[in-house]
Amino acid sequence: MPHSKPLHPQTLAIRGAKEQTGYNEHNQALFITSSFMFDTAADGAALFAHQKPGFTYSRTANPTVAAFAQRIALLEKGEAGIATATGMAAIQAALLTFLSAGDHLITSRSLFGTTMGFITNHLTRFGIEVSLVPQSDTAAWRAAVKPNTKMLFVETPSNPLNELADIAELANIAHGCGALLAVDNCFCSPALQQPLTFGADLSVQSATKAIDGHGRVLGGVVCGKADLMEKVAMYANSAGLLLSPFNAWVLLSGCETLPLRMEKQSAQALEIAQWLQGRSEVVKVYYSGLPDHPQAALAAKQQASGGIVVAFELKGGQHAAWQVIDHVKVFSKTANLGDVRSTITHPWTTTHCRMEPKAKLEAGIREGLIRLSIGLEDSADLIADLQQALEHIQ
Ligand SMILES: *Cc1c(COP(=O)(O)O)cnc(C)c1O
Repeated sequence: MPHSKPLHPQTLAIRGAKEQTGYNEHNQALFITSSFMFDTAADGAALFAHQKPGFTYSRTANPTVAAFAQRIALLEKGEAGIATATGMAAIQAALLTFLSAGDHLITSRSLFGTTMGFITNHLTRFGIEVSLVPQSDTAAWRAAVKPNTKMLFVETPSNPLNELADIAELANIAHGCGALLAVDNCFCSPALQQPLTFGADLSVQSATKAIDGHGRVLGGVVCGKADLMEKVAMYANSAGLLLSPFNAWVLLSGCETLPLRMEKQSAQALEIAQWLQGRSEVVKVYYSGLPDHPQAALAAKQQASGGIVVAFELKGGQHAAWQVIDHVKVFSKTANLGDVRSTITHPWTTTHCRMEPKAKLEAGIREGLIRLSIGLEDSADLIADLQQALEHIQ
């Protein structure tokens, strides 16, 4: 056999890690079964003792779910992956597999709201110490290290302001104190950023967003080195976190177009971000693909593009933001993101409504801020829609 070249991401997204049966099915088969049979009693014993590869029970592993997790691991350039029921289940698995009472976690102040709630309301109940630091301030991450620091957790780019964290720098800090670095890669997806290649130990994400891409099902994935992922698999099995086979099968079809969608959607996001910069109603545009983004060089180093989420602040505060949201006709008014359908949200009163006003302002989220997730509709129609909505501000 001649040595074959490594396959490109778009090929892996379609052909990677298929679980083939003897029926020669062309698409990935959907295994809707809670358990798997043994040929003999000895065969069952060998499967349970991990002396032979195979499947026993779908809370532990299922062929459709394994195919999906392994395909994402190929795109993340990780050795293995575990697919979970939701993005939050993936985050829980990444944190609780490795943190115990008495351990210390360092994380960013700019986290997805539910992740922030899980860490500050629940991890702390089990005696895990938490320090919150400013997302982009590498020195603050380093200064927060304590003798019991076991993990650094970051989401880059952040929601909704697209602030970046330097993954390679955070990996150095983590590894310097014997800790792990976990990155929530949801905003870029593995199509635009592979945190493991910059030294992260775990890449975590909500497959509900760009990987599905069509707003159908929930799911999550954790990827990393095989030895770490074995531990995550044991935790996910005990805690009952695994993805359902049906959702894995839906997500596999989302996966097939992920690199293509993310390339086109991020090109459109850049076009819209640049158009917004020229509008007199807009104070500021937050998009890491813009040449004047304060971390443009870091974005160019670790991301293939600025991603698909554009945030912008209006001069007229909440009143102006609500008028724009109420007048769009093409954008969907919903908090989901990563969909082929473009969406528009007002973070102050939706995704970040449970934060105190002072905390929101400290995080840079003001009343006039709007978050867009750019989809696959024609960008000319999206721009025309925003233009007529901006003209409704009174
Ligand atoms: C949505 C989201 C999650 C949680 O994912 P679910 O699938 O909704 O559980 C985690 N992190 C980020 C950045 C998200 O956008």
